[in-house]
Amino acid sequence: MAKRETQQPWDDEYDVVVAGSGAGAMTGALTAAAGGLRTVVLEKTALLGGTSAYSGAAVWLPGTQVQRRAGIGDSAESARAYLVALLGEAEADRREAFLATAPEVAEFLERDPAVEFEWRAFPDYFPAPGRLDGGRSFVPLDLPAERLGDLAALVRPPVDRDRAGLGHAEGPLSAGRALIGRLLLALTNTGNGTVRTGTALTRLVVEDGRVTGVEAATAGGAVRLRAARGVLLAAGGFEGNAAMRAEHGVPGTAEWSMAPAGANTGDPIRAAAAIGAATGLMDEAWWCPGVALPDGRAAFTLGFHGGLMVDGSGRRFANESLPYDRMGREMTAAPGRVPAHLIFDSRFRGRLPAISLPGRPADEHLDAGTWVRAESLPELAELIGVPAEALAGTVERFNGFAATGVDEDFHRGEDPYDLFFAGRSGDRPNPCLVPVDTPPYYAARVVLSDLGTKGGLRTDPDGRVLDGAGRPIPGLYAAGNTSASFSGRRYPGPGVPIGSAMVFAYRAAQDMAR
Ligand code: FAD
Repeated sequence: MAKRETQQPWDDEYDVVVAGSGAGAMTGALTAAAGGLRTVVLEKTALLGGTSAYSGAAVWLPGTQVQRRAGIGDSAESARAYLVALLGEAEADRREAFLATAPEVAEFLERDPAVEFEWRAFPDYFPAPGRLDGGRSFVPLDLPAERLGDLAALVRPPVDRDRAGLGHAEGPLSAGRALIGRLLLALTNTGNGTVRTGTALTRLVVEDGRVTGVEAATAGGAVRLRAARGVLLAAGGFEGNAAMRAEHGVPGTAEWSMAPAGANTGDPIRAAAAIGAATGLMDEAWWCPGVALPDGRAAFTLGFHGGLMVDGSGRRFANESLPYDRMGREMTAAPGRVPAHLIFDSRFRGRLPAISLPGRPADEHLDAGTWVRAESLPELAELIGVPAEALAGTVERFNGFAATGVDEDFHRGEDPYDLFFAGRSGDRPNPCLVPVDTPPYYAARVVLSDLGTKGGLRTDPDGRVLDGAGRPIPGLYAAGNTSASFSGRRYPGPGVPIGSAMVFAYRAAQDMAR
């Protein structure tokens, strides 16, 4: 690490500089500001919230007052059993810090009248001890736009509107927008928080072995900002950076990733690596199947409640109802699975039997060729380039499973998660197995998307960034997808990305305040 830089004047001085404005960044900033520290949030784009604003804002914080209010029998103990079953002891220190702090984070946030949560059913993603079938995650209540006033225009709109260049729709902010809006409101109310959009962290300033500030690019030129207590890097992963993805062997592409265009390109990870920070899990992401969109991008797709998915050989390769990260991993597990195709029939009236964010109408897909339609399965097979006999055999076998209710190949419909999204009507023996037998048939191209990379800076339980020897770099912290996730190569349940970002950003801010 550089010893001491030539002294140059600071443009502005703060106690805490936070790079990024997702849920982790905003929680860290709020914690610091509420503790009396002068805090600035630097956001590279013109809008706050990043991928967090696009999100459903499920927050996986086990054993908090929110689950208690809802009468959910959740606890740190059951969450520990679940995490240990999935992750082993590899990240025991950070796991314990996460479990010990989760209830405190919910309590701290809800102490502010701007922040209110409620438990929302959404099953954990793995059958393992300690799993809660109804899940343990919670979401923010919708936020009336009037409560934010002019600040509402700063919050990134939902993904469908944002990608179309549209602002917020009429009505309250919901899901990720409500979370970012509520944290922004609370931060503003502290009187100690400043937000600077259009300000991208480019470099860390080091003096006598300590990070004492940052350099950032703005439309008006570079600025140097002092951070007397510390810098928190919570600026997403590098999912939007094609070169970094290639360098680290991250499957998928920057175009198929879900982060706002141009936002998460890993600048803070590179800035920290340049001063000796260690990285980990750099080939990892929070995966999902992505329905290919007419504009060349992809849509986060989950909750398949009809159809079946085939690879390039025309065969199924997984339980289509798997939690999205597990399905994404199945897509990378063997060649020939990207693109895959979701085969479905006209019983869904031209709609995809899944939740797709953003969704586009069938005619747009059919015009662009991202979906094809045919009166017969052999015709459909030809249109998507898979062997016709194989596809016919796959569909016939699947329809047999639909008749008996038992998926002998991939056990679809046997897990509470599968059933969570299944259609509720009908008298089928297994609601997840819907026959594909009503022409015309459809095939939707499915690629590998992600909700962000999850490899990045190595951190300790207080979010302190570690150097190559495992020592904390004084004054430097990281959280969210800028850091290597404590959940390793698993996505345990809904809300782990945001929940863990919030906990470690909270702990980082507390450490800075000590
Ligand atoms: P982000 O929220 O993406 O924030 C990063 C911010 O940093 C961006 O605004 C970016 O512009 C800014 N930035 C980047 N570089 C710089 C720089 N150099 N200087 C300053 N600022 C910079 N996860 C959950 O836990 N629960 C859910 O319910 C959930 N639902 C989802 C639904 C959808 C549709 C999608 C797409 C994702 C969902 N996810 C969910 C995943 C989750 O949203 C992300 O993994 C998480 O929000 C990432 O948080 P982050 O703070 O690391 O990054």
